[in-house]
Amino acid sequence: MSEVLQLLSDVPPLRDLSTAELENLIRSSDVRIASPEGVVVRKGRSWPRIGIVLAGELEVVATDDGDSRSRVSLLEPGDMFGQPPSGKQSASEVEVLAVTESVYLMIPWYTWEEMIGSRDGSSEALASVCVTLDAPDRTRGRAQARAAAGADRYGLGLSSSRPAKILVINCGSSSLKYNFYDTHDRSNDREGIVERIGIEGGRLVHRPGDGTKVIRELGRINHDVAFEAVVEVLTDSEMGVIRDLSDITGVGHRVVHGGSKYSDPVVIDDDVVSEIERLCSLAPLHNPHNLAAIRKSMALMPQVPQVAVFDTGFHQRMPAHAYMYALPYSFYEQQGIRRYGFHGISHNYLALRAASCLERDVADLRIITCHLGNGSSVSAVDRGRSVDTSMGLTPLEGLVMGTRSGDIDPGAMLHMARTNDMGFEELDSLLNRKSGVLGLSGISNDFREIEDGARQGNRLALLALHVFCHRLRKYIGAYIAVMGGLDVMVFSAGIGERSPWVRSLTCQGLSELGIELEDRVNRYGYAGGDEVIDLSSKKSRVKVLAMQTDEGRMIARETIRALDR
Ligand code: ADP
Repeated sequence: MSEVLQLLSDVPPLRDLSTAELENLIRSSDVRIASPEGVVVRKGRSWPRIGIVLAGELEVVATDDGDSRSRVSLLEPGDMFGQPPSGKQSASEVEVLAVTESVYLMIPWYTWEEMIGSRDGSSEALASVCVTLDAPDRTRGRAQARAAAGADRYGLGLSSSRPAKILVINCGSSSLKYNFYDTHDRSNDREGIVERIGIEGGRLVHRPGDGTKVIRELGRINHDVAFEAVVEVLTDSEMGVIRDLSDITGVGHRVVHGGSKYSDPVVIDDDVVSEIERLCSLAPLHNPHNLAAIRKSMALMPQVPQVAVFDTGFHQRMPAHAYMYALPYSFYEQQGIRRYGFHGISHNYLALRAASCLERDVADLRIITCHLGNGSSVSAVDRGRSVDTSMGLTPLEGLVMGTRSGDIDPGAMLHMARTNDMGFEELDSLLNRKSGVLGLSGISNDFREIEDGARQGNRLALLALHVFCHRLRKYIGAYIAVMGGLDVMVFSAGIGERSPWVRSLTCQGLSELGIELEDRVNRYGYAGGDEVIDLSSKKSRVKVLAMQTDEGRMIARETIRALDR
């Protein structure tokens, strides 16, 4: 029973239910067993229920009038299927069959409505994870209709029916980045950064939107003063874009760690603040700064809604087999030791933007998104859902980075602790600040310098470049296996957008896997600004794209959606 409860508590629309409520839900629903090939939902019948797979595997199959049948999706434990409650019972357009002996929970509509439907965000959570019983061509029809309605099918252009002025805050240990978006007058969009917080020489660099920069020297400042400097520049009588803070519709805050609790953005109240505070233990270098900005923002703008957008949120729908470490289970249960993944705001943006550009529905695509900057990570995005990602409990796992090692045998740490007598602090500093391409090359953490070194024949710089690309290739191969194929691959962030060398080394020899670059475009095409470059050759089965990521815009989009809800 406790395993079933654990599984259900990981299903997004049920996350906020207490154990007693989950037990009640199970009692009010039916638990069914299906033998292999047994029919769970018959085509043509209405099925006014929500199903949740508890064990085994089910498949959703589309059939036509002849004998042809094709699998639309495979459902594993924790996956939901059925018809979201709408008051109108329509006939199922697909069949759901058991692949192996399977157990599933069948929740009648009225039980769902009574226990879950009235909770905030439950219908969005259901819509985002529930596999519906519509025929795939109807889904495609909807996608085409959306495409016809405009290229901005995922709202990344921030078109909102109501005018909105959104301030986005991304507060780190020594910097505070901000973006301001006016959805009804794009000429008012602004961005900037306060740098060197907490040390001498703090300064604000503001971009008024005409290609120029305004710099204000601030001296030695803390995060509160940095926030006030942002407010000053936005309300400045000459270059400001708002009269006062009451003009702002909402503030979106990037919060690094949302733990297992937050997959979606939330409007911040006292409970959310406490929860983010509790999660500081999982992200001690980030959440406290995010929280400082939230508190300051709430104090300055008590009437303006504040929204937290979590960098771990997008990866919260990863299946358990992707996020569990093979440690004793109690470490997960008692301390939350599991893989969370990061850069989720960016991976989500890249997948949606890629689908948008290709005029495809993200729900039809298997995408690998490579965010390659100072910190790097790669994600497998299967039909809009992150099903695996390279970072783990912390941003240290996965790819080789500027100064972080990425994957390493944990036994190597034990060995070094034992034989070199290295303590926790030393190992922490070694892995996070002295490793990666900096450690390997001994030159720099800046990839441009690594490439320059390699070009000039520096053996270790070349080695660092090769180790970086080899690691990325391994992940790409693994994620193709995870998703059973690949339709689109996206390169982004400083290195991904601008390094033809990294892209070609990474993709070399992958034509068997459907990946082939057009050498000329890869070399000379530049993904700057709003542009998306298609790097793939005509023969390439997989579309390979390069583009800028835009976390600020994604946070603004999520903030608008959270407020609309
Ligand atoms: P952050 O993760 O801090 O947001 P960025 O996305 O800006 O970082 O990426 C920074 C990285 O991109 C640095 O390693 C930088 O050297 C690298 N980079 C920037 N331009 C180029 C280029 N033209 N060629 C190769 N690497 C580049």
